[in-house]
Formats: sequence, C-alpha cells, structure tokens
Amino acid sequence: MKLIFATGNMGKMREIREIMADVNVEVLSMKEAGIYTDVVEDGTTFLENAYLKAEAVAGKAKEAGMEAIVLADDSGLVVDALNGEPGIYSARYMGEDTPYSIKNANIIQRMEGVEDEKRSARFVCAIAAVLPDGRRLDSVKTYEGRIGYEEKGEHGFGYDPIFYLPDRGCYSAELDPDEKNRISHRGKALEDMKHKLRSAIEEQ
Ligand code: IMP
Repeated sequence: MKLIFATGNMGKMREIREIMADVNVEVLSMKEAGIYTDVVEDGTTFLENAYLKAEAVAGKAKEAGMEAIVLADDSGLVVDALNGEPGIYSARYMGEDTPYSIKNANIIQRMEGVEDEKRSARFVCAIAAVLPDGRRLDSVKTYEGRIGYEEKGEHGFGYDPIFYLPDRGCYSAELDPDEKNRISHRGKALEDMKHKLRSAIEEQ
C-alpha cells in the first residue's frame, strides 16, 4: 500500500518515514507521487485544514488512478494570554516571509507584564488521513509549555526558541531532535495515527 504525505516540507517527510518504518506502507511525498496542488487553507481549526489538504490530494490521487492512503497535517502555536494567537495563522503571523527572530520578539513583547502562570501555551498538531475506500481517520495532539522571557536554543525551528518547558527547565529549541520528537505535538500525533492506520489496514 502507498502512503502519500501531503507536504512540501522535507523535515516532515524525514520524520514520517522514520515513524512509519515498521508499517507495511511505501511512504511518498507529493512530488514522488506526481501530485501537484495548492490548497487554500481556509478552515477554522487545525483539523479542518488538515482534512482540506488530505481530501484535495486524495482527489488528485484518485483522478490519477492511484490507490493510496493520503495523510496531511496542520500545526501551530496557541498562546492563551493572546486569545489563542497565532493559532492556525502561525506560519502566516506577521507575514509568511518574516524571520522568526522578529515574530518571536513580537510575541515576547506582547506578553510583557503577563505573570508566569498566565504564560501557558501549546503547540497543536492535527493529522488527517483519507483511505482509498473513503474512510477518514484523524489525530490531534498537543505539546504544553509557556512563553518564555527570551529566545534560547539552537535546535528546532519556528517558535521553539521562545517555548519554555517548565518541567524540564529548558526551552524547546534546547532539546535534541530525537527528544523533541518523542514529546512533541507532531511526534505524538504521528505515532497515534500510525496505530490507527495499522488497525485500519488490518481490518481490510
Ligand atoms: P504548517 O507547516 O502549516 O503546519 O505550519 C506550522 C507553523 O506552526 C510553522 O510554520 C511554525 O510557525 C509553527 N510550528 C508548528 N510546529 C512547530 C514546532 O514544533 N516548533 C516551532 N514552531 C512550530
């Protein structure tokens, strides 16, 4: 069985290949599957956006006569004291091309005067799957922490340098990649989706 991951992000492709290594599927990027589509992510939740991408690519795969499972994800940072911002607009916050050093500095500045307990935030990852017979599966997982007072750490990407993990006493960008994958929103959602997919494939 083929599995197409609807992303153009090579980092995500590497992650999914590692996690799906012990499942009997051939993991393909959209490019490898020869599918090109630009989906307007106009859903109101992470999960709606993940389904929009998965359904669009599944439609293209069907048109091309391909029998494949299609997976798509959507993720972002939700800051409680900012009424959930940047949320589903995390990638587009202050403009898609604005460097994260500027986005991160802006969030820290907007949090000025907010006390520790009210600095709670979480990364959310929604993964949606569409199976060749039309069945749909999904998983939504979070990675909980707080917005810190500075930027710290060299690993990760995006908002990791301002995402403080009180239990560990460090920032997300200070974790090595394997460690982050074990506890992160995307790592947990992919792991959960793997189990759901395995059961669904065995049911067939
Ligand atoms: P997506 O690739 O459309 O899901 O966009 C996700 C956006 O959310 C990224 O561009 C980042 O801004 C943010 N984001 C999601 N996951 C993480 C993470 O693990 N660390 C840092 N930022 C993240």
